[in-house]
Amino acid sequence: MAYRRGTVFYLLSGRERTPVFPKSRCVEKVLAREGDIGLNVVDSPTGTIVFMNVTGFRILPFTIVSAAVWLTCVLGAQALNIVNHFSPLNGQRPRRQRTDYLILHTTEGPGKGSLAKVRRLGECHYFVDEIGKVFRIIDRHKVALHAGRSMWNGRTNIDDSAIGIEVAGYHNRNITAAQYAAVKDLVAELQGIYKITDARVLTHSMVAYGAPNQWHKHAHRGRKRCGMLFAKWSVRVKLGLTSQQKHDPDIKAGRLVNADPYLAKVLYGSAQEQERAAQRYAASDANIISPSRSAWDIARDKYKSPEVTYVFPSGKRLQGNAIKDWKTIPPGTRVILFPQHKPTKS
Ligand SMILES: [Zn+2]
Repeated sequence: MAYRRGTVFYLLSGRERTPVFPKSRCVEKVLAREGDIGLNVVDSPTGTIVFMNVTGFRILPFTIVSAAVWLTCVLGAQALNIVNHFSPLNGQRPRRQRTDYLILHTTEGPGKGSLAKVRRLGECHYFVDEIGKVFRIIDRHKVALHAGRSMWNGRTNIDDSAIGIEVAGYHNRNITAAQYAAVKDLVAELQGIYKITDARVLTHSMVAYGAPNQWHKHAHRGRKRCGMLFAKWSVRVKLGLTSQQKHDPDIKAGRLVNADPYLAKVLYGSAQEQERAAQRYAASDANIISPSRSAWDIARDKYKSPEVTYVFPSGKRLQGNAIKDWKTIPPGTRVILFPQHKPTKS
């Protein structure tokens, strides 16, 4: 459970209640150790109020209990450690005028190469590697270029109103326990600073949209699967997020068409629907072209990129930029998206 900055903690004894101290991530750590302290959590319009039932400590004056808990917190807390690893482009980036969203990404390649790339290009504010180490790439007051062609609720260019977090990993694989802990702390910290609700912690796949192409005549959702797993209830719960978007506002309003109903199910479905739909992207044939899986389905907007390799059933290999006729690619062609020697950001 994540406690927001501003959360009010009360010690309870009988009918009396005494405020302890405002918010702290460390409270959670104390409570994890002191499992015998009863907890009541109440969501109110003004925020979360946590009541710590300390009946067992009734003999002690509240001030002593309060001070003891606070001291344990301060001494025992391990603040989220963020390493400065600024992009050389940080100095040139303009200040961001507003911050309404957190956008979660997956690198789709190994952490080391991805970190170097996002730093070189200034493609996120924070980067979380496989062992949960957090790097600061672009100052959080400035604009990082991470969402690309994007729209949410009618507003475009989401980079202007969002903080981007890159997590080393893949849209269709689980992240490590260390990453869960680091992302959870980082997200809670930023939510507290910018007053961002859980529902406005979005994934890149939610906000990215594609220009018309030969498969889709209209501007469409589904350009990216980046960060897809962070929409799943099973993952959000572990990140301390208790709500999410229920539908895509731009498809609902007719601004975009839905190019990938499976992805939409993962992003907006019930927990059960999400798990079922996500299987399509984890299946062994997820990268094989078939009547139900086009080159676009697999490679998205990178389909004609030199970074993508097509291996035909005959064994012949062609890069995306060398293919002229997309209609004659035979079923059974394997699509290699992310060569190990050259990781790319999704
Ligand atoms: Zn992304």
